[in-house]
Amino acid sequence: MEDYPKTILEFEKRFATEEACRQYLFDVRWPEGFCCPRCGHSEAWYTKRGLYRCQGCDSQISVTAGTIFQDTRKPLRLWFRTIWYVINQKNGVSALGLKRVLGLGSYQTAWTWLHKLRTAMVRPGRDRLSGTVEVDETYIGGKKSVYRGRGALGKTLVLVVAQEDGKHIGRIRLQRVFDPTAQSLCPAVQECVEPGTVVRTDGWSGYRQLNSLGYIHEVVRHDSHIGDNLLPLVNRVTALLKRWLQGTHQGAVQPSHLDYYLDEFTFRFNRRTSRSRGKLFYRLVQQAVIIAPVTGREIQGGKPFP
Ligand SMILES: [Zn+2]
Repeated sequence: MEDYPKTILEFEKRFATEEACRQYLFDVRWPEGFCCPRCGHSEAWYTKRGLYRCQGCDSQISVTAGTIFQDTRKPLRLWFRTIWYVINQKNGVSALGLKRVLGLGSYQTAWTWLHKLRTAMVRPGRDRLSGTVEVDETYIGGKKSVYRGRGALGKTLVLVVAQEDGKHIGRIRLQRVFDPTAQSLCPAVQECVEPGTVVRTDGWSGYRQLNSLGYIHEVVRHDSHIGDNLLPLVNRVTALLKRWLQGTHQGAVQPSHLDYYLDEFTFRFNRRTSRSRGKLFYRLVQQAVIIAPVTGREIQGGKPFP
């Protein structure tokens, strides 16, 4: 059962204590009751220190162990407020903004927390897009526009996939790619799109193999310059993405951290019509307790290419 606060007052009332936050994490993490991550046993004693002592293997398990909240020295109440705040800001929030609003001690803490939450914005094993999609690539970073195949120093190439939903955009996927060659683009399309999907692209050679990979490939034109509006959905997403990176994050995103921002943008975009912010809060907490913990150091290093 999905159980979440619907308003700020409900939120404040419900998560007023550490105990209430811990209980909520417990319910979201183990909806069927306790399950020991070490041995799978389903019975535990609750200890005075707020830990679960497994009756199967005698391990002491914290409800935050193995989640993004693992080893946190800050109160869960602060984490919950951060999630609520992040979810309720339509365009997201910068590390500086979060530090100010929640009175977090350091910029570094705010920055690391936001990145940890971004890692939770990707649902593990998420499905691929289907139906009809538009696919194009865009360069992020730098000021001048560049054409494909030319050197693009300091820029990061991102594959943009937008699903058609009548005249509107359905869901999107964003994927960083190494270069605009078939070897880079085709696996990225396969990662994001179900075989059998109608895939519209321009005539760029990097997409030529899509038919042989099981897609219904439609070339909307044969000129391969980026910028004209023959792929309106994907162009709209690209424009919104760039505006968001410039606006909320002031263009200060390091290429090695871009993936985290792409994940956040995708999470927000795909849920932009959701009327219930509380439900998004629930989703993010749910994903935060099932993904593996990441350390601040891992986050600073950025993600390697898959
Ligand atoms: Zn156990």
